[in-house]
Amino acid sequence: MSDCIFCRIAAGEVPAKILHSDEAVIAFADVHPQAPTHVLVVPRAHHTSLADVPPGEDATLGRLLATCRELAAVLGLRGGYRVVVNTGADGGQTVSHLHLHLLGGRAMSWPPG
Ligand code: 5GP
Ligand code: ZN
Repeated sequence: MSDCIFCRIAAGEVPAKILHSDEAVIAFADVHPQAPTHVLVVPRAHHTSLADVPPGEDATLGRLLATCRELAAVLGLRGGYRVVVNTGADGGQTVSHLHLHLLGGRAMSWPPG
């Protein structure tokens, strides 16, 4: 989708600090980090949100989570980390292309806002 910012980053049309790239998943630094480590883990395929991923593509969801696990290890998040998937308006989603936030490098509080 030419008007989707994450599709454009995945296509190399918009610059980002890329931390991981394979045939199905890319990961890049969030432009407005909310923690010392804040990475967005994104499927190359455009899905508007988690709610819009068809069951036939559930393997992609596993790939996304596994990428979070691998990046957390590579980035040295030994104290723990948080993975967040804001979904839809009530979930606080602002970019309509499925993405996982990998946050770490500080202690997180709960409940979220
Ligand atoms: P959401 O609110 O949809 O869960 O998260 C969207 C995230 O994308 C936000 O944390 C925001 O900072 C990040 N973001 C929005 N536009 C860009 C961009 O052009 N480049 C990068 N690297 N991050 C972006
Ligand atoms: Zn997209």
